[in-house]
Amino acid sequence: MLSLVYRSAWDVVLEERPVPDRIKDNQVLVRIRATGICGTDLGIISGKYHAKPSTILGHESAGEVVRVGPDVTALRPGDRVVIDPTYYCGQCAMCRTGRQNHCVRKGETETGVSSDGTFTDYYVTEDRFLYKLADHVSYEEATMTEPLSCMLTGIDQMRLMPNFRAVILGAGPIGMLYSYALASKGVSGSIVEISEHRLQIATSIAPERWNVYPSMEDALTAMSPDNRQVDIIVDTTGIMATQAISALAHGGYLMLVGLRDGESTFNPKEIVDRSLKIIGSIDSLGTFATAHYMIERKVVPVGKLITHRFPLTEYQEAFRALGCDLQKRALTSSSTAVKVILHSGA
Ligand SMILES: [Zn+2]
Ligand SMILES: [Zn+2]
Repeated sequence: MLSLVYRSAWDVVLEERPVPDRIKDNQVLVRIRATGICGTDLGIISGKYHAKPSTILGHESAGEVVRVGPDVTALRPGDRVVIDPTYYCGQCAMCRTGRQNHCVRKGETETGVSSDGTFTDYYVTEDRFLYKLADHVSYEEATMTEPLSCMLTGIDQMRLMPNFRAVILGAGPIGMLYSYALASKGVSGSIVEISEHRLQIATSIAPERWNVYPSMEDALTAMSPDNRQVDIIVDTTGIMATQAISALAHGGYLMLVGLRDGESTFNPKEIVDRSLKIIGSIDSLGTFATAHYMIERKVVPVGKLITHRFPLTEYQEAFRALGCDLQKRALTSSSTAVKVILHSGA
């Protein structure tokens, strides 16, 4: 089966890999139909995020059940499913204290990072990580379950009120999904996007009563002309934390979700004196079923966020649409896309 394999930074290739022929009693063989390209994939390819060499990339995926082990009772061949790629053992110190997204075995089990992923034709997982799809949910839409689940895990860490106002920095898939996740809780807000092209797309797909601005200043001025402060700032860029602190109202939340090395400074006294909260959030924790439900019930219209799709063989074109040029070995923010999906072989 043709698979997109990570060798080292900027060196990813299509390789033939054997179709898995053996599954354990509680496992399921899934024929992959669609996998979304994630910021993590771009981070791995550009050498900013560590992955195990020789690993098949891809983790936001959906497909069709092909074969089930004898202990699997809830699924049968032909079922359409979405995959929760966040493996956890259930037995380590992290798993036993409600932090399964930090399972100590993650270093060897993270789908598409340290364990073979889904930019390929077939994938084996345990039945507990599969969720059946309703007929009206497409494979493409289903690939958005995992990223949405991560956003829901993020907002679970805030004590939200419907009269909160939020600013989201960056209109990529993470920013757009955060806007919808917050909107589903009644929170209104703005999205900031510096790329003119993405700003236009974001304007056409933003949640109702949410606006898009070219700068944080513009967003703050429009939302809070008196003091230019809001209750929540979600930074998907990884570089705005310092400026964001002063734009928070007392008791406000700064949510950091941009996976990027760097340094930000803040005055600890200000954090204390103004009861500010700085929160980091990675992966999903207990929210996958909710994300699955929200997509099925169209609470979040994920289809709107999918702007491009390519066959797996055209992966270079797909990455280029996201500003990642494999030939030039360059990652720029000049993305013309929001979510890009790769389809595995017909
Ligand atoms: Zn992802
Ligand atoms: Zn564990």
